Amino acid sequence: MAGESLIIIGAGLAGLSTGSYAQMNGYRSRIFEHHSKPGGVAATWKRQGYVIEGGIHFLMGHRPGQSAYELYRELGTAQVNTFPDITTYGRFIDESSGRYLDVTTGLDRLADDLKGVSENDTALVSGLVAGVRVMQGRDLTGMALNKPPELTRVWDRLKFVWDLRGLLKYYRGKYARSMGEFVQEVQDPWLRWVLGNMFMPEVPVWFVLMIWGLLADRQLGLLKGGSAGFVRPIEKRYLELGGQVTYRATVEEILVENDRAVGVRLADGSEHRADVVVSAADGYGTIFKMLKGRYLNDKIRDRFSKWELIRPVVMVSFGVAREFNDEPWLSVIKLKQPIKLGQGEINEIIVRIFNYSQEFAPPGKTVVQVLFESEWDFWNELQKDRPRYDDEKQRVATEVLSRLEARYPGIYALVEVTDVATPYTTWRYTLNYRGAYEGWLPTPRVINTAIPRTLPGLSNFYMAGQWIMPGGGVPPVIISGRHVVQILCHRDRKPFQASVP
Ligand SMILES: Cc1cc2nc3c(=O)[nH]c(=O)nc-3n(C[C@H](O)[C@H](O)[C@H](O)COP(=O)(O)OP(=O)(O)OC[C@H]3O[C@@H](n4cnc5c(N)ncnc54)[C@H](O)[C@@H]3O)c2cc1C
Repeated sequence: MAGESLIIIGAGLAGLSTGSYAQMNGYRSRIFEHHSKPGGVAATWKRQGYVIEGGIHFLMGHRPGQSAYELYRELGTAQVNTFPDITTYGRFIDESSGRYLDVTTGLDRLADDLKGVSENDTALVSGLVAGVRVMQGRDLTGMALNKPPELTRVWDRLKFVWDLRGLLKYYRGKYARSMGEFVQEVQDPWLRWVLGNMFMPEVPVWFVLMIWGLLADRQLGLLKGGSAGFVRPIEKRYLELGGQVTYRATVEEILVENDRAVGVRLADGSEHRADVVVSAADGYGTIFKMLKGRYLNDKIRDRFSKWELIRPVVMVSFGVAREFNDEPWLSVIKLKQPIKLGQGEINEIIVRIFNYSQEFAPPGKTVVQVLFESEWDFWNELQKDRPRYDDEKQRVATEVLSRLEARYPGIYALVEVTDVATPYTTWRYTLNYRGAYEGWLPTPRVINTAIPRTLPGLSNFYMAGQWIMPGGGVPPVIISGRHVVQILCHRDRKPFQASVP
């Protein structure tokens, strides 16, 4: 029914997308957001003249030719942003030997560089690079995510398989294994480490080939204005379409009558009713807290008891009073000496240098960020004792800075701002379960699982966002919001419409 009202929980990218497409299709929507600003994990914050980026590393499909780009246009963010092409995906560095390898857009050069590392692995490298060439020029996100599972018919599946012809080899057999498993065949230990750390080692090999394909096609871009510069225009578009957002409004309960979602109750006790409720918030919180675990089936139970979560991260950011003009925007470093943390140790760190835009720091200055995976339980326990938690953050920052000092002598004295975000910080601002900033770990099995946007036995309720799109990522979560509105339009027997402002 046109004019039906929607309550959306969460103003992350999925919630804003759901709201925008709902407004485009004649629904009246309102978002309740826990935090004081939009974006969820796609977060940026200010510290004494510096802008700290806590979210999106690169944008997939930032140029015409990919359907993701059309989404960015529909949501009004492509028009006001410029996304510099990534020409080097990253520099992979071994601190012990001083060796490094750049992963670049030119496939011939990449093939030569990888083969140059190890003569014994040239056949394996040739196989990978051949796979990248097959992935190039394809709109894989558009093909895979065109329709929600609820609206996918046999015909759509057949078409998908047809579109994938030529690629099927990569979705089966050895390229369907996890990258971590695949690299066990690599003979040279350094090359094994580089390839294994190209993304999370659990992702299937084809996923890495797809990313390299996008890189080679110059379809990976950086965000000049950070995550906030990407998100704010989407929030603006939503508001211009007539949507409403209430910030600092945490939903505690989804109100249900006769197995129909009818509204929400907020932490302040106020109740708000609507014809349809969409949760674009954390999956665990939605299903087990807001709905008290009443709408489950074996698949959902299985997911929450057996699937692995994205490992949370610590981000240590420094505002530094110098330029880093010749440094790559991202490096993955295999440490000579691990960093001790809790019961474990950190062997690899990612260093992000925000030297590709003037929006992150005052002139002549730069934000340098070190990111590494860390345990949820460790930080969650520690935060219960605030002074110890703060001391540990300080200790980690000092330790990380000493590593940077070894790479960039003199940096120590030039640090003007230090900011440490832990897995608990991720939870505090976004309520993502156990700090899993992208939801489910996209293993070969999980990444191919289509999760319904509905829950069994509950009508007028839908889910969007990274907890129903395994592995998350900007295009998938935006598409998930579009999917919900496609389902609503289908239910209401009207054509789905999308417009470009
Ligand atoms: C460090 C980092 C790097 C990344 N790099 C990339 C990348 O390079 N490329 C890429 O494509 N993607 C990347 N991502 C992933 C991408 O940013 C996310 O998958 C995506 O933004 C998730 O959007 P979402 O709306 O589904 O979820 P979220 O961003 O988690 O949004 C959910 C929203 O719901 C709100 N909420 C939760 N519970 C409640 C409640 N009870 N009441 C009200 N509101 C609630 C939260 O506050 C939040 O705002 C990265 C993410 C991070 C953190």
